Amino acid sequence: MIVLDFLGNLKRTHYCGVLRATDVGRDVVVMGWVHRRRDLGNLLFLDVRDRSGIVQVVFNKETQAEAHAKAEHARSEYVVAVEGKVVKREKANPEIATGEIELVASKLHILNNAKTPPFPIEEEINAAEETRLRYRYLDLRRPKPHQNLVLRHKIVLEMRKAMDEMGFIEVETPMLTRSTPEGARDYLVPSRVHHGQFYALPQSPQIFKQILMIGGLDRYFQIVKCFRDEDLRADRQPEFTQLDLEMSFPRQEDIFGVIENVMVRVCAAAGIQVTASFPQMLYRDAIRKYGSDKPDLRFGMELHEVTECFPAEAKQKLQIEGNVFAMAAPGAASCSRKQLDELTEKAKSQGARGAYFVKVAAEGTTSTVEKLIGAENVKKLAEACGAKTGDLVVAVSAKEQIRGTEAAALVAGQLRLHLGEALGVIDKTQWKFLWLTGFPLFEWSENDRTWVSAQHPFTGIVDEDLEKLESAPWEVRSKGYDLVLNGYELGSGSIRIHRQDVQERLFKALGLTQEQLRKRFGFFLDALTYGTPPHGGIALGVDRIAMLLSGEKSIREVIAFGKTTAAQDLMAESPSEVDRDQLEQLGIQIKQR
Ligand code: ASP
Repeated sequence: MIVLDFLGNLKRTHYCGVLRATDVGRDVVVMGWVHRRRDLGNLLFLDVRDRSGIVQVVFNKETQAEAHAKAEHARSEYVVAVEGKVVKREKANPEIATGEIELVASKLHILNNAKTPPFPIEEEINAAEETRLRYRYLDLRRPKPHQNLVLRHKIVLEMRKAMDEMGFIEVETPMLTRSTPEGARDYLVPSRVHHGQFYALPQSPQIFKQILMIGGLDRYFQIVKCFRDEDLRADRQPEFTQLDLEMSFPRQEDIFGVIENVMVRVCAAAGIQVTASFPQMLYRDAIRKYGSDKPDLRFGMELHEVTECFPAEAKQKLQIEGNVFAMAAPGAASCSRKQLDELTEKAKSQGARGAYFVKVAAEGTTSTVEKLIGAENVKKLAEACGAKTGDLVVAVSAKEQIRGTEAAALVAGQLRLHLGEALGVIDKTQWKFLWLTGFPLFEWSENDRTWVSAQHPFTGIVDEDLEKLESAPWEVRSKGYDLVLNGYELGSGSIRIHRQDVQERLFKALGLTQEQLRKRFGFFLDALTYGTPPHGGIALGVDRIAMLLSGEKSIREVIAFGKTTAAQDLMAESPSEVDRDQLEQLGIQIKQR
């Protein structure tokens, strides 16, 4: 058993990782964790680590017997303070930033001991993600998780600076509120005082920020937590952070300008240079050319509609309904039969009726559907896709048609991403921003058998389309837009509905009765009647931005305490059961399932 020292009045003079050759001769005090210990008998080395890096400390038995004896007790992850002198190393270690120097210890303070960690605190580890999440405090001692949080801090700081400089005011909106219609399930919080009533955690501050415009704030922003109870994926969490903003009297390009300024600055803070005036694309074109509402523009392989290459008889045999979309996969003509089968399987798992291939090889062009569509059509198909010698044309049809969109293009879009990755044609050094506009206001929900808002029900309606709201809702275009980066949706927004009569008509078009819309949105509809300025805004996903800029594949890597895909916090062990008393006070009884 070692006796632990008190910190007392001991003051740190330097972070471990900042010491350099220029500090040689200096008496310093560093504090941190024992990263590694090497005992060579008379000389004992401790690598001491803090958030800035590592410094090597040497304990000499002959000259500093007491400190040396104490160092023999130190183990990995013990917390220590070292007093000593910076000296030049005999042999520099180019691997670490402090490699030219070491610290000759005169005194060691062992401030705390530590159990052996479940994984080593190293750059690369092979611990399961569950273990890392459970012991997140240990994981955060590793360089990359630590750097990710530092980068996130820089991103958020830059956002705040940019927004402030552009005249936006940060306003906090309530966390205990009522349901906001972003299309996900709510997290509910029971009210103790109002028996049987619930708050909802906000899916976004949407209604509040619009009300702030009615309140004359003119330019609002907030770095804010949002809560959505939906199925999770690698780039989703039940609680996530948005850069949320709203402005009065905006044109669409004003909002784009604000966001481009923010993103250019945020990227620069991450050491990435991008330029403003991001390209724009219509939703319809994105679907038809890339089979996605968030196209990855770091590579080509554009889609082409090739339905006319499939004569009626062939369509019947292949059971093709709807359109056929195709693309040329560069250099993939050498695919084996097995690889084509795998590709077909992949396509089917994405919802394809079938996948049809054309190999454009030096020896000639061959196709899996040549017998059915004829040589002439095979040629046409390859030409339509601009296929060159050595390319493989991949065409797909969809199993089921989806009202209002191109189902086959969506399947082809998935294959495009898959092939792009597999063929290594995605230029990972590029940062391709894109604005998507021209969204339909509604999309058809097969589940509910009704039209639902493509974004949320406050999205503005293209002026000329207003009259079609009741008669031809599927033709109505919205004033919404999305920002996309490298195939990820960073956020969406819109110019809003600012007239009460239009907002009410929209709710009715969505099937709400007068009674329902009064009950859910009465307060907002009332607010709209008191002089609402035209307004619009957007919200960007901070977690996703941090994930992309730090080169991570999962947003959990850029969140201090992330949740699993089963929405659990493995460290704090939440969600958890609560005391009977608490439930009693809330008047809640748990039904057994
Ligand atoms: N509230 C919207 C969202 O969370 C963003 C917006 O329309 O400003 O996606």
